[in-house]
Amino acid sequence: MKPTQQKQFDKTAFQNSVKKHLTSTYATTLQTATSRAWYLAMGRALAELTTFDLLETEHDEKIRHAKSVNYLSLEFLIGRLTGNNLISLGLYSQVNDAMNELGQHLTDLLEEERDPSLGNGGLGRLAACFMDSLAAQEFPCVGYGLHYEYGLFKQSFALGRQQEAPDAWRSVEGYPWEVARPNLAQEIGFYGQVEVYQENGEERRRWVPGMTVKAMPWDMPIVGYESDTVYPLRLWECRAIAPFSLASFNNGNYFEAQHALIDAGNITKVLYPNDNHEKGKTLRLMQQYFHSAASVRDILRRHEEIGHSLESLPDYETIQLNDTHPTIAIPELMRILIDEKGLSWDDAWRISSKTFAYTNHTLLPEALETWSEALLQHLLPRHMEIIYQINHLFLKEVREKWPGDVSKQRKLSIIQEGFHRMVRMANLSVVGSYAVNGVAALHSNLVKRDLFPEFHELYPTRLQNVTNGITPRRWLKFCNPDLSELITSKIGDQWPTDLDQLEAISQYADDPQFQQQFMAVKKANKQRLADWVESNMGIVLDTNAIFDVQIKRLHEYKRQHLNMLHILSLYHRLLNEPDFDMAPRVVFFAAKAAPGYHLAKEIIYALNKISERINGDPRINDKLKVVFIPDYRVSIAEIIIPAADVSEQISTAGKEASGTGNMKMALNGALTIGTMDGANVEIREEVGDDNIYIFGLDVDQVEALHANGYNPYDYYHADPLLKASLELLLGDEFTPGEPGKLRVTYDSLLDGGDPYLVLADFAAYVQAHEAMDRQYRDQAGWAKKAILNTALVGKFSSDRSIRDYVNNIWKLEAVKR
Ligand SMILES: *Cc1c(COP(=O)(O)O)cnc(C)c1O
Repeated sequence: MKPTQQKQFDKTAFQNSVKKHLTSTYATTLQTATSRAWYLAMGRALAELTTFDLLETEHDEKIRHAKSVNYLSLEFLIGRLTGNNLISLGLYSQVNDAMNELGQHLTDLLEEERDPSLGNGGLGRLAACFMDSLAAQEFPCVGYGLHYEYGLFKQSFALGRQQEAPDAWRSVEGYPWEVARPNLAQEIGFYGQVEVYQENGEERRRWVPGMTVKAMPWDMPIVGYESDTVYPLRLWECRAIAPFSLASFNNGNYFEAQHALIDAGNITKVLYPNDNHEKGKTLRLMQQYFHSAASVRDILRRHEEIGHSLESLPDYETIQLNDTHPTIAIPELMRILIDEKGLSWDDAWRISSKTFAYTNHTLLPEALETWSEALLQHLLPRHMEIIYQINHLFLKEVREKWPGDVSKQRKLSIIQEGFHRMVRMANLSVVGSYAVNGVAALHSNLVKRDLFPEFHELYPTRLQNVTNGITPRRWLKFCNPDLSELITSKIGDQWPTDLDQLEAISQYADDPQFQQQFMAVKKANKQRLADWVESNMGIVLDTNAIFDVQIKRLHEYKRQHLNMLHILSLYHRLLNEPDFDMAPRVVFFAAKAAPGYHLAKEIIYALNKISERINGDPRINDKLKVVFIPDYRVSIAEIIIPAADVSEQISTAGKEASGTGNMKMALNGALTIGTMDGANVEIREEVGDDNIYIFGLDVDQVEALHANGYNPYDYYHADPLLKASLELLLGDEFTPGEPGKLRVTYDSLLDGGDPYLVLADFAAYVQAHEAMDRQYRDQAGWAKKAILNTALVGKFSSDRSIRDYVNNIWKLEAVKR
């Protein structure tokens, strides 16, 4: 680590730069500038420093000649950059002082930044953590994504129901941290046809698109922690080419393009708001191809600019596909190598299949992407030909391995047969990649056992595991400064780049003085959250209560409705069991539902109505509160996570591939209540059984229950507390005068068949909560467990995830500047 930035920082020059931007960029004066103008001007002044380092890194000869990873993702949920970049630059306190002298408070200015919400949830946030860890460890890299005009919708509630509003994250002024790179723009085609022609007696093919658009890159700086290395997150924006489609107008294709009713500005207009669900829309496929094509061309440009041969592409560039969303990059690279560069099929395939690696993020069938063959054929006719040829050669391999076994061919084929033939993007990704990884040990084993067993037999070394991680810079040092200081006071300040060092904190787990300091920090963080809730939602909270937190996308498999049933059971018991006692508890939710996901929106509605009633019910004496915080996003996660006592990770076993929210909260000293799912399994391994509350069915038991015919009514009739809790949803307890308004959730759990086994896990879940409640009343014992959580989760640093990729998959080296 080189604190060079600190030496270089020239306060007066910086202040002059801020003032210059205030006047010349934002046309205001020192006297009249709003807080927002100050934030923007400060951001621009800081971005001057990072743009300089970005270009220095880009032109560094050692880096240009080293092997790089290209992380392709349709989502990067980066969160606000200003505060985090100040930490990475090592300039937080200097800039704080500099702005103070200008009469501004840094913390207020940081609140002016809108989150760039360019992702849905875990998958996009993972991509952001990975970029941070790549830059921090100085591994040569480029992140490639899309420059959506509108990020994930903004959520508000009207009478308890979710409302969606567009998220114009750049506002009218633009985002201060991004820089346009017009010289690196690309042209991208769609539609049209494939022409066959002769060259030197050989038959060759070329794609003549019917519509062409421009891909304009915007670079966001990913600042290496306390280093001068800045790598780009390159986001492509779609623009019309002027004069629009003149060539296609002349050859008659103009109307075909018109017919699609797509104008160029549309392609990157908005992020699709579905998490773990695919909806086969044309415009989404256009986004995917636009992103892949622009990125592959940029990668080849860099490779060829240094004079490297195409044959050596896999020695210098590796391309990581974040889920199947960028999979069309595989046929795109093949097309360029064969049609544009004149390589043979075999040479092109040897290069391509050593360049791509694929990360699988889910086993949920509704999330596994397939695209209509007819749509692909129409939009990308040459790519469809290449996919057929890849499949043809692959099925030959399958026949050689399993002669005469048609069912194997049918199951593994990239093309799914049927009335509407579909292209299976996961199969294409496995066939076209040199490595495939799941995102936690359990998930990777299920990928081998249940999702791709035949692929695993055919390619025994291809399927691997890389357990997800989170960046400790944003998710501890930045979001929890008090805990960071306490840790540093004990073990020094090197832990943010070597998180295993936190283990040394365990020696203080029994130390009463340290316990008291640790819990005082937690209390202050709870107060910060309580203040936020009071001023933004008007709800007053007691920070002595257990802060019980479930924050993540709203999805049946994540089972917010199991948590809801627990709340209903507590409410029922507080009102009906005279001897029932419990530690005061505040249950927090934050979650967006996909706009078209009806049941998820009904669950939000039910939780809001339950919250309204319980929070105002004098009979329960403030023992229980429910707070549903609107508009879940990175910046609100940064306030909630340091304040959590209890981390809810209660997905049906086998459904949550990894989770990363679980890691963030454990790192900040929350105790997990969770199922044996995703990375919970590994968190338990690290912190030990005594310091986590595991409950419920495991993967095998879930499978057995389904196989034996699960009937939720069996549980309903056998468990009076469950029955009473569920029936609260039928009356008008939470919707006075309007009984039955919450019954959609009730019905889904009974007549709907309860596909995620909420009722089957209810009793065990209630018991686990009772054990936590007892433990909370012994504050010293609780403190010990909380400290051990922070101390023992160093494994979940995304620095370790990236080193796993580097060592086991990418095989590349850090380059120190
Ligand atoms: C970490 C994070 C997620 C992922 O949470 P899970 O609990 O792993 O689903 C989603 N959204 C935001 C804003 C996050 O910070």
